[in-house]
Amino acid sequence: MKAHDALYIDGAWRPAASAETLAVLNPVDEQVVGHVPAGGAEDVDAAVRAARAALPGWAATPPAERAAYLGAIRDGLRERAAEIAATVTAELGAPAKIADLVHTRLPIAVADSYAELAATHSFEEKVGNSVVYSEPVGVVGAITPWNYPLHQIVAKVAPALAAGCTVVVKPAEDTPLTAQLFAEIVDAAGLPAGVFNLVTGLGPVAGQALAEHAGVDLVSFTGSTAVGRRIGAVAGGAVKRVALELGGKSANVILPSADLAKAVSVGIANVMANSGQTCSAWTRMLVPAARYEEAVALAAEAAAKYVPGERLGPLVSARQQERVRGYIEKGVEEGARLVAGGAEAPLETGYYVSPTVFADVTPGMTIAQEEIFGPVVSILRYEDEADALAIANGTPYGLGGAVWGEPEEAVAFARRLDTGQVDINGGRFNPLAPFGGYKQSGVGRELGAHGLAEYLQTKSLQF
Ligand code: NAD
Repeated sequence: MKAHDALYIDGAWRPAASAETLAVLNPVDEQVVGHVPAGGAEDVDAAVRAARAALPGWAATPPAERAAYLGAIRDGLRERAAEIAATVTAELGAPAKIADLVHTRLPIAVADSYAELAATHSFEEKVGNSVVYSEPVGVVGAITPWNYPLHQIVAKVAPALAAGCTVVVKPAEDTPLTAQLFAEIVDAAGLPAGVFNLVTGLGPVAGQALAEHAGVDLVSFTGSTAVGRRIGAVAGGAVKRVALELGGKSANVILPSADLAKAVSVGIANVMANSGQTCSAWTRMLVPAARYEEAVALAAEAAAKYVPGERLGPLVSARQQERVRGYIEKGVEEGARLVAGGAEAPLETGYYVSPTVFADVTPGMTIAQEEIFGPVVSILRYEDEADALAIANGTPYGLGGAVWGEPEEAVAFARRLDTGQVDINGGRFNPLAPFGGYKQSGVGRELGAHGLAEYLQTKSLQF
């Protein structure tokens, strides 16, 4: 698609207050693919005002009608699927297959789930002598990252619209073109002006202005823990609602009863997908000591199949590439054993990092504690289940995870993990299952009915 030189506010593409722009780069060839406006506080204010003005009408729109609009958005996403995939490839560098299978189909499934939920959810309930109404929280400020550019937007906008909220989105500066394409789809779906607004711009400028705006009732943020902390503090100060989806350091726990070969190969695939830029990626593989070397050999072999430039895409930016290479150097310095990949850039052009596997990682090492956000897996050894549990729970994060083994044992283990979501023996993705963090991985849940609840507040009438 062609970049818009405007912001989408109050139902139309409008010029930003300043003429400043942001260049969007293709991470594969490092060439500029477009420019978008660098919106500022004035633009955010205009968008929030439009969202506030549209709120009473949208909140009063019957849920079945809101569901029909969501259905139209889903249909628009379906119709423009090829263009979405091409846009994600252009600005994120995602290989074509992943751009289609993940970056396009996942948000379509989420939009579809909310079209259905908006139509079927019960927005009022009788409790004893009361009627409890679920009402929209109000104006939502949605701040999204670049790793799943469209999914992150849809996972916030669809439940917000289903709930009757109006929205201002500030997308990541690295991937604003997908966001503009989404705005075109919303526009074509014919939503009333001001219900959805898009302001592209820098995080510390447009993002911060949105988080701080007094006209925003709920800030929903996905991104780094550092920025999430600041947004939480701002929201706390203003006593406004906040939802934070932050980092992770998820454990892939392989129990002695597991199918080791399958657990290792799916585990490696889980991290390499999207070049490791997944907040819930299983970046720590926990293996029983007795089968450790066998798992290390299988992991190194599986990782080598992710050839950079073919199956493995680049990272989103030079900054992320440098950051990840720094972590790989740190792993070597701290004494971990490199069994695949390394810090050397595998290709001359593009922000690639080799698929990297570290063995002999101990729980206290930096690469076992901090979110790397690249194609890097750390393999840790454990002695018994108690040891495995202590290692798995031994980081400040708790977002995703996996357990492999005899089903009853695996479920019992998963119940003791301090984390928001666990896949048992490679469980399939479910767009209705709540997604979100324990501990410092965040506050609140996305997806399904739990995701919808984030955008609702209750009022009870007693009779
Ligand atoms: P980031 O937190 O800086 O950016 C996320 C979003 O927040 C972007 O839209 C950005 O413009 C905005 N933002 C930045 N500063 C802001 C501020 N002061 N106020 C309001 N909004 C602001 O993330 P990043 O720098 O793009 O990535 C850094 C690291 O964050 C990654 O390496 C990874 O560890 C983590 N990350 C996590 C996720 C996730 O899904 N949880 C996604 C992306 C990045």
